[in-house]
Amino acid sequence: MKILITGGAGFIGSNLVKFHLDKKDYVWMIDNLITGSKNNVKEFLSSKNFRFIEADIIDFDYSGLPSFDVIYNLASPASPKQFLKIPIEILKTNSLGTMRILDFFIKSNSRCFLYASTSEVYGNPLIDPQPETYFGNVNSVGIRSCYDESKRFAESYLMTNFRKFSLNLRIARIFNTYGPKMAADDGRVVSNFINQIINHQPLTVYGDGKQTRSFCYVDDMVKGLYLLATLPNLAGTIVNLGNPQKKTILAIANLIKKLTNSPVKITFQKIGEDDPKKRCPDISKARILLGWEPKITLGVGLKKTIKYFQSLK
Ligand code: UDP
Repeated sequence: MKILITGGAGFIGSNLVKFHLDKKDYVWMIDNLITGSKNNVKEFLSSKNFRFIEADIIDFDYSGLPSFDVIYNLASPASPKQFLKIPIEILKTNSLGTMRILDFFIKSNSRCFLYASTSEVYGNPLIDPQPETYFGNVNSVGIRSCYDESKRFAESYLMTNFRKFSLNLRIARIFNTYGPKMAADDGRVVSNFINQIINHQPLTVYGDGKQTRSFCYVDDMVKGLYLLATLPNLAGTIVNLGNPQKKTILAIANLIKKLTNSPVKITFQKIGEDDPKKRCPDISKARILLGWEPKITLGVGLKKTIKYFQSLK
């Protein structure tokens, strides 16, 4: 198969590149490296099946590209830390960028388009777990809105185009994901805690640590994205992908401490504006339509992630 991955130098993107190269597919990737890293894909650069295009999806000239079996649109900074640093870039990538790449999808006669949306479309949810039918509880002008609202715009744009032109597009709502190739300085909870332990610093729990998240190991996520992109008869489908096993942030801190035998202390710091109190996917739809559910337990996944960050030192 011929695959195009935008945002392929990012955390999930680079794991997806590896998955497809391992399957002997041809992988083209576009990334402007605003948050992705060339290091994440350097092991593939010598492969004749891999092409890296350093460009921004907003203004790239797509006319020289071939038709693809699957276009995965993963390009977008995704960490709350970036919402404060580069909000305009995030808004433009998910709106203008998505419009341009969909235009290329249509003109190139490519077969399937998968958009990486997010659990952030549910905002600070009032129900738990969140099914795809939930409309969300989003602050449209808050500091997270650059991400939440541009992803919601992208979903609306794609579904409108689907209804009008019957395009073969699919939308994954990706919940918290972790694993090798996360950026160490991205401010995410799992990467922060592991790197704080490696550097003998206290763990920074925001708020009282009672907020919940559910963490999916990246290999499970990549498999889910692949199934959603390649199984037949899923045009216009929106699916939650994530691990439904719920944990408080304080429990995550203690689990990582335990797995590393670390004596570091936990400090409590101010929590960010609109930080969701809870987030957990209802994955019934993914189970039924994709026959998919996460297989890798938190303990096993965290051990692999700890090993990865230790290997960078
Ligand atoms: N968090 C924390 N300490 C950190 C980083 C994050 O307590 O050093 C909390 C954050 O406030 C949030 C949760 O962990 O409630 C998950 O944060 P992350 O940025 O990983 O992803 P989010 O789910 O907010 O997109």
